[in-house]
Amino acid sequence: MNRNNIIATCSKCGTRNRIPINRMRENAVCGRCRNPLSIDEWYPEHPVDVTDRTFRNEVLNFPGSTVVYFWAPWCGHCQRLNPVMDELAGKYAGRLKIARLALEENPAVSSQLNVRSVPTLLFMKGGKQVNRLDGALPREQLEYYFRALLQGGP
Ligand SMILES: [Zn+2]
Repeated sequence: MNRNNIIATCSKCGTRNRIPINRMRENAVCGRCRNPLSIDEWYPEHPVDVTDRTFRNEVLNFPGSTVVYFWAPWCGHCQRLNPVMDELAGKYAGRLKIARLALEENPAVSSQLNVRSVPTLLFMKGGKQVNRLDGALPREQLEYYFRALLQGGP
């Protein structure tokens, strides 16, 4: 897959449109039904659950900025972090994607990226890791890393 393209799924007809990343902020329309494609659909305003199966497509082949959030259902820090990540996904919609991955259910990605504890956050740009946080941080400090990821564009 070409890393310079992004897939935008049309909210009206469901067609998957391939769009060059350098045209992301222009007024793109669905190739089939001409419905305007909102950038919010490419960066949804909620965390996206990813798995061993979807990680490549959602994160590694995604040309923009992604925060990958490794969590586990028994993790107390994760339970407190979940609503914060939901809020941040809304606040940063259109600029970055939050991908949420359950550590133990997805051993391939976790071992490939050397993640052994939760919560762990990976900051990715164009499928490449640029930063990593092990453990929980207050929201203000998290946002510092979000803003750092966004420096230089989405
Ligand atoms: Zn359409």
